[in-house]
Amino acid sequence: MEALTNRAKQVSHKEMTLGEKFYLPAIIKGLKITFQHIFKKTVTINYPEVKREISPVYRGLHVLKRDDLGRENCTACGLCAVACPAEAITMDAAERKRGEEHLYREEKYAAKYEINMLRCIFCGLCEEACPKDAIYLTDRILPSNYSRDKFIFGKDLLVEKMDARIDVSLRKKKKDDNSIL
Ligand code: SF4
Ligand code: SF4
Repeated sequence: MEALTNRAKQVSHKEMTLGEKFYLPAIIKGLKITFQHIFKKTVTINYPEVKREISPVYRGLHVLKRDDLGRENCTACGLCAVACPAEAITMDAAERKRGEEHLYREEKYAAKYEINMLRCIFCGLCEEACPKDAIYLTDRILPSNYSRDKFIFGKDLLVEKMDARIDVSLRKKKKDDNSIL
């Protein structure tokens, strides 16, 4: 049969020498490599006890921001969904009713807003596309899970909590400076 590449190697079936049968040379060779590395500075960390320091502008879990009065900024314009290369964002828009002015900043809002975190590639284009300062990526790391359903993040997980506001000033500044992070 004709070979497709020249990378194939013939398997050697030669008899092992007496030294090889004792495995001593191989063991000594392995130990030599072990001792060469044992006193070197480690490049690994003992996660999760030790956490690696990450950039303050790390592109992690998204947040849907509120304004200073606590109203949701998102107006369900859909620009983030259009910009998303992974088609990870879906939403349903709704009209704000009388008496809901304290909940939503503008007359239209996202009644449903979901990001499929299994599709998301954390590129930050949704943040770039948003004209309402409504969506930002944060330095929070997406938690792991056993079920695929748990990776569909709805408003309950995305909208920032009133008593736990999330500082996105660094990312906002970079966005205002017009530089993609
Ligand atoms: S970070 Fe990128 S992939 Fe993820 S939702 Fe935003 S635009 Fe889509
Ligand atoms: S997050 Fe921004 S871009 Fe996306 S729908 Fe809301 S206002 Fe529009």
